[in-house]
Amino acid sequence: MIAHNLDKVNARIHSVGHDQAVQLIAVSKTRTSAELQLAVDAGQNHFGENYLQEALDKIDSLKGQNLVWHFIGPIQSNKSSKIAENFHWVHSVDRIKVAKRLNDQRPDAMGKLNILLQVNIDQELTKSGFLLDEIASVVPQIENLPNIVLKGFMCIPSQANPAESFAKMAELLAKYPAMDTLSMGMSQDLELAVENGATFVRIGTDIFGARAAK
Ligand SMILES: *Cc1c(COP(=O)(O)O)cnc(C)c1O
Repeated sequence: MIAHNLDKVNARIHSVGHDQAVQLIAVSKTRTSAELQLAVDAGQNHFGENYLQEALDKIDSLKGQNLVWHFIGPIQSNKSSKIAENFHWVHSVDRIKVAKRLNDQRPDAMGKLNILLQVNIDQELTKSGFLLDEIASVVPQIENLPNIVLKGFMCIPSQANPAESFAKMAELLAKYPAMDTLSMGMSQDLELAVENGATFVRIGTDIFGARAAK
């Protein structure tokens, strides 16, 4: 089932005309290592996790398979060291302080940590992330930190008009020629995100099925 779902999601990505490379991230929060292993066996190697402790357990039990781990959930400052030590990418950086901590805590031997700034693109009270207006002053404060690389931006749009939200994200990225990454698009709005320049899409439900309420 998971292998078949991955085929369907990859076909949806390819069904949309796009010039950019698009990498599928399987969002595996609440899923077991056995479920992730089925996805790995079907060729999936990028995984996105929201909750640190369950992610660490899965990273450990699936090690040695060249997987790429993305942290996409809320970041509590006191958890940042484990994130810096165990992930390749962090999409949910929403405070300058968190970027600095990740930089300071990144082990040298792992190379630079790739980060994205989360943007609260529709200015929703219920969502975290920087406002669009803040980005221009935030970027210079973190782009020269030596142990992280600021690669681009991530958003979770409101469902009111996601195409417009995604287009604003593409405009934002275009202002920064040194960056090349837009993390956007979930099960419901994957095609719209790819049409608007997404380079990472984050898909959970349409790969693993509906999640139990947490
Ligand atoms: C859960 C989650 C996803 C995946 O959502 P689905 O609707 O299950 O595809 C993507 N991004 C973030 C940040 C998430 O928390």
